[in-house]
Amino acid sequence: MNQHLFNPELGHPEIQKKILHSIQSERLPHAFLFYGKEGTGKDAFAIEIAKLLNCEKGPLYICHKCPACIKISKQEHPDVKFVFPIPGSSNVKPEDIAEALQEKSQNPYKRISFEGKTTFISIDMIRELKYESKFKLYEGKKKVFIVSEADRMRPEAANALLKLLEEPPENLMLILVSSQIHRILPTIRSRSQLIHFAPLEGDAILKIVKKYTPQPPEHLASLIRLALGNIKLAFDFMEEDILDRRNQAVDFLRKVVIIEKSHELLIQIDKITASRDRRTMVLLLFFLLTWFHDAYHYKLSPDQKANFINSDLASNIEGFVNGYPDADYPRVINYTQTAIDDLEDPRNLNPALIFTDLSIKLNRSIKPR
Ligand SMILES: [Zn+2]
Repeated sequence: MNQHLFNPELGHPEIQKKILHSIQSERLPHAFLFYGKEGTGKDAFAIEIAKLLNCEKGPLYICHKCPACIKISKQEHPDVKFVFPIPGSSNVKPEDIAEALQEKSQNPYKRISFEGKTTFISIDMIRELKYESKFKLYEGKKKVFIVSEADRMRPEAANALLKLLEEPPENLMLILVSSQIHRILPTIRSRSQLIHFAPLEGDAILKIVKKYTPQPPEHLASLIRLALGNIKLAFDFMEEDILDRRNQAVDFLRKVVIIEKSHELLIQIDKITASRDRRTMVLLLFFLLTWFHDAYHYKLSPDQKANFINSDLASNIEGFVNGYPDADYPRVINYTQTAIDDLEDPRNLNPALIFTDLSIKLNRSIKPR
């Protein structure tokens, strides 16, 4: 079966087959829009498409060894561009951007982050792509421009991109990547071929993480379970002080259930949101989510404690479930997931409000009257 895939390690076999099929039938579109939840490997997949279309052994196979493949892996191929949101020019040095690109070339699954700074794709970045698109190929077979987190385009950047989509040069493949497709202009969506990326299977994530982490931590399998199918988050976890973050989540939950002491809860929310680093806040909520998953699990089948994500906290979770017998877990999980989505949307300007709103909803669903 693997012979029909161009890179089995990459996962998403159905998408691989679909793309190979469009190449064979000469129906490759000018633009793809890869969408789906964060951490499903969309950027990495887009980079592999650039190799597929430029590899000496392509376009149905990737050798990973020829100069084209190697240059694309290193983000050094003149016909392949990878664009991603960056902080405003007064806020960032060119070497920081070069370093981010360098990190992405070492691990295409990792998050590009500029420590709490607001990032976006400017019109200048899109103009540069348009300018580049007019040139003949330097050395490759096809230009491939990848726009990562395309939903972070400023409106004027999106309009500039639209013009490129309306009159696409013959030799250009444009790949837009987004985990917030509803933020992409409908006119851009309708001019791209949409491809949905489902979460990667746990096994696939485990293989990928092992490939990019020379000394994977002992608790790798449980880390990946914690990441709930989000590979970017799995790599985030590996750089975090996990236990510390989890304690913070449990602490927050404790304050939420005794919301009557609202002063303490507000202090806690202040603490959580003070850093303004949304990654940290999202990680905290993810831990909360795993706690609720475990609690729900326990409520449904109390004899399967061994399968807890937080198996070391089994007795605490058991105590929680018994202490709040009327808790509505599906609802609680849904609220937490929504709060995570809200936090990940940079247009939501007030994280404290998201946490306050969540606290009230959680309190009412854990202790319904
Ligand atoms: Zn090659």
